[in-house]
Amino acid sequence: MPRALITGITGQDGIYLAEFLALKGYEIFGLLRGQNNPKATAVQQAVPSIKLLGGDLRDLPSLIGAMEIAKPDEVYNLGAISFVGLSWDQAELTSGITGMGVLRVLEALRIFTQNDMSRIRFYQASSSEMFGKVREVPQRETTAFHPRSPYGVAKAFGHHLTVNYRESYGAHACAGILFNHESPRRGHEFVTRKVTRGAARIALGLQDRLVLGNLEARRDWGFAGDYVEAMWLMLQQERPEDYVIATGQTHSIRDLLDIAFQRVGIPNWQSHVLQDPRLFRPADVDLLVGDASRARDELGWKPRGDFRTLIEMMVDADLADGEQNEKQAAGSGNRHR
Ligand code: GDP
Repeated sequence: MPRALITGITGQDGIYLAEFLALKGYEIFGLLRGQNNPKATAVQQAVPSIKLLGGDLRDLPSLIGAMEIAKPDEVYNLGAISFVGLSWDQAELTSGITGMGVLRVLEALRIFTQNDMSRIRFYQASSSEMFGKVREVPQRETTAFHPRSPYGVAKAFGHHLTVNYRESYGAHACAGILFNHESPRRGHEFVTRKVTRGAARIALGLQDRLVLGNLEARRDWGFAGDYVEAMWLMLQQERPEDYVIATGQTHSIRDLLDIAFQRVGIPNWQSHVLQDPRLFRPADVDLLVGDASRARDELGWKPRGDFRTLIEMMVDADLADGEQNEKQAAGSGNRHR
């Protein structure tokens, strides 16, 4: 039975990846931060066979300890402070976890394997945010980086370090440059989920308005469930490489609003959406669109659904959620009466 250790197990990608690896027959270990982490239950519900280990990307001994218990064949480093907006307010923390965290995981691997790093396969969650102010369209593995946020800078550090450990120590280390990937499990702070949840709640009469920032930004949004398969495929290759994972399609926040509000039967989102300059970022990424042809040619990977299907699925899940919450609230109200 192959063994995998996943950092960032409580995040969207951590849960999808654990579900995917469980179906492949892996024994899965997830690194869980903090005491009594409230997100542990959701992970255990999704993947009952998972073993959760305490540890923190800021703490090298805890990472070595996790490796001693997990004895992994594959390590997936998905843990990060992942919200770009927060990275200006907590730039040091973001650098320490999203950037230096990669160094600590790689060092833990080097120490644990006694410098024989090639015997454990390592995946680093690199990000299209590294392209930032894009140098070419579409972006591919060879496109130069120009990150626009402390988050993007930290991810670029982790990316270069992954390549460096491959070249310095012969590590079987791959960096997946994943473009934005979403799902009903996406955090509420990200714009797709904020919009799908907002549209659902407005349609259900639970909220009147949706307050957003820059509506002109364009992203290449795919489905997270498809993207975790690409992570695994990278580690199954004999030769470690870095791959762009993207749909090749780009859409604006306005397109996102059109689809989400149409899905709930509101033709005119303009009357519900306000723009607040406080939600504009000090520097934004205007356009992202990826060229995933290397992943297609070498891994046989391609995205399954399109953008509309993804957003409609997220809206439907948020509608179901909102309705269930309403029923529960009404139920508890009745009991109290
Ligand atoms: P990112 O690409 O990792 O930064 O993903 P996000 O979903 O956080 O943001 C995508 C884009 O949506 C960025 O260009 C944001 O400036 C823009 N955006 C506009 N309004 C909002 C908002 O209210 N929340 C978030 N998170 N992003 C917004």
